[in-house]
Amino acid sequence: MASRCFSWSRSKNGQSGGIRVFKKVLIANRGEIAVRIIRACRALGIPTVAIYSTADREALHVRLADERVCIGPPRVRESYLNIPVIVSAALSFGADAVHPGYGFLSENGDFAEACQRSGLTFIGPRVRNIRLMGDKPRARRIMEKAGVPVLPGTSSGTTDVREAQAVAAQVGFPVLLKAAAGGGGRGLRIARTPEELASVFAIAEEEGASAFGNGALYVEKYLENPRHIEFQIVADQHRNIIHLGERECSIQRRYQKIIEETPSVVLTKRLRERMGAAAVNAAKAIGYTNVGTVEFLLDQHGHFYFIEMNTRVQVEHPITEMVTGIDVVQAGILAAAGEKLPWRQRDITFSGHAVECRVVAEDPNTMLPSPGTIRGYHAPGGLGIRVDSGVAENSVIPVFYDSLVAKVVAHGKTRDEAIQRMRVALDEYQIHGIKTNIALHQKVLQDPEFLAGEVHTRYLDKFLVRPVTRPAAVAAKRLAAVA
Ligand code: ADP
Ligand code: ADP
Ligand code: MG
Repeated sequence: MASRCFSWSRSKNGQSGGIRVFKKVLIANRGEIAVRIIRACRALGIPTVAIYSTADREALHVRLADERVCIGPPRVRESYLNIPVIVSAALSFGADAVHPGYGFLSENGDFAEACQRSGLTFIGPRVRNIRLMGDKPRARRIMEKAGVPVLPGTSSGTTDVREAQAVAAQVGFPVLLKAAAGGGGRGLRIARTPEELASVFAIAEEEGASAFGNGALYVEKYLENPRHIEFQIVADQHRNIIHLGERECSIQRRYQKIIEETPSVVLTKRLRERMGAAAVNAAKAIGYTNVGTVEFLLDQHGHFYFIEMNTRVQVEHPITEMVTGIDVVQAGILAAAGEKLPWRQRDITFSGHAVECRVVAEDPNTMLPSPGTIRGYHAPGGLGIRVDSGVAENSVIPVFYDSLVAKVVAHGKTRDEAIQRMRVALDEYQIHGIKTNIALHQKVLQDPEFLAGEVHTRYLDKFLVRPVTRPAAVAAKRLAAVA
């Protein structure tokens, strides 16, 4: 495996190839990704500063970092989204770089710019790349020009329902109304008729305005039951751009990913090459630097379409790490420090299969968040199992933030082996005091359709309303009898 033999020349004390990478990194995030970034910095010998709100005083990332600073009350506007406070914390602690993680300020051009203006390296792409891809209809326009396929639809955001109706009439119903500044699966509404479009327009507009401070919407042809397949990009500041293969993220609820895997069972070698080349072209078209992800939808006929580019590290990056042996977070840090990529595309090889289950704090019946204190915690382990979490015994899951508790990642030689390891790991996982979606994961991991790889972005919605099939009911009875 050539890729495993390569690594950035690095040594202790944040030195890489004799040059000091960063003196100190402030992590502008919380939870599992803050912990993940602390680990990557530690491996590179770089000291870290954690920021935290008063709701996160006892949080794991606060305990694990070398230094810590409280930046305000629980509400995100006053803490994790407070640009002036975060920048001054970085400066007063002597940090020379800031890692934004995902969510929060990671795709906020103003934050990246504020860091730069204060002489701090923003560990991510250039400000203009963030702004460009953050404007989703504009990103579509650029990709179309660069020859990357996009779905029919609008090329600029609008707040005029008649304009949206005219585009929908042109591309044909059904269409998806999407927030121009959207993210995290919010601000998306299907319209199957002109009347439905008129009635959901205001809802989507309102959702966009409250979540992203921008109510502009765009229209995209709605694909029935596509797969979500994305490519991990790594790019340095010396025009080297490569991809680290795909991730299949079709198991979603409310347009949010729940289970991801790599490789995708449906990509042929040829299609993988074509999609990978399109992803690299997409990144090249904007002169992208650092890690990022190009997201595509793939239809039943093998046609793929660009939907967006996430200009940050993604939640599901560990599955790529497991099959390539490349540390994606370290790659982002080193690229931000100006290091050259030590690999060419042909050096990247893939080994085995990896699956990730997002464990979230939620009530399995109502599917509403289940905040609280973890009383009794045991994380699974064993060959091929990795748990990335921001929690431990007595950790508090506050009401104010994302409900992600942990990501369980299983790696195996084959898909079957990875899935089997995942089942054993989830069985072993003990999280008391809060409710989680572990049982839902277990059900999906037993489902014949999932096991056959017959999934699409509406799979989970349909699975949740599907009556228990006879073979599954029989299997459940048999299991009960054995128990
Ligand atoms: P990924 O593409 O990495 O799977 P998601 O779209 O699931 O990322 O979002 C990652 C995290 O960031 C989630 O916790 C989500 O709630 C949050 N998030 C994504 N986009 C935004 C945004 N624009 N503003 C605030 N939070 C966001
Ligand atoms: P976000 O920024 O919220 O992540 P995306 O544009 O990436 O938004 O879309 C999120 C999800 O919504 C996709 O993974 C897919 O399930 C669904 N989706 C997006 N665009 C379309 C489309 N044109 N047709 C069908 N489903 C779509
Ligand atoms: Mg997306």
